[in-house]
Amino acid sequence: MNHVYLLLGSNEGNRVQWLQSALDGLHRFATLEKQSAVYETAAWGLESQPDFLNMVIEIKTSLSAPELLVEIQQLETELERQRTIVWGPRTLDIDILFFNDEVIQTDHLIVPHPGIPVRRFTLEPLCEIAPHFLHPSYGKTVQQLLDYCTDHLETKRLGMINAIVSTR
Ligand code: ADP
Ligand code: MG
Repeated sequence: MNHVYLLLGSNEGNRVQWLQSALDGLHRFATLEKQSAVYETAAWGLESQPDFLNMVIEIKTSLSAPELLVEIQQLETELERQRTIVWGPRTLDIDILFFNDEVIQTDHLIVPHPGIPVRRFTLEPLCEIAPHFLHPSYGKTVQQLLDYCTDHLETKRLGMINAIVSTR
């Protein structure tokens, strides 16, 4: 079994519902082990768009990393993600953060995800469920990466998804 951390993000439409649909869909090929709270962050990169909701989950899966990427992209497509503007609004984005302690660099897949150390909206939810996980190429734990993170875009912890589903 492979031990994987995923980042889920949405900034279009009913954002909580998109995250929930992703959690439901992931059951086809993975077991959910842990989930962070949902965090809200101003859009990163292209700033004139709705705020993002993000959460990190830990899953177990028998799929290889390339197989998992295919399944994830299939799920994004099913959930009506529009790939129009780079870094633009999206119903649902799923990124592979860590895949065991593997370092993967192909045309389609870079793991650990290169955004981890520079994105507070990734590190905060990740640190909630995996503070001691060691980044395989930096040799620092998630907690240490968060401590050194220079991204100061504010992230607000909204609560666990079940608790906020009815309010947003
Ligand atoms: P982003 O997540 O950077 O906003 P996309 O979700 O559109 O943008 O991803 C673009 C491409 O990134 C995907 O087609 C995928 O092949 C590639 N990619 C590379 N590494 C990863 C990763 N660790 N997780 C998810 N996608 C990745
Ligand atoms: Mg992505």
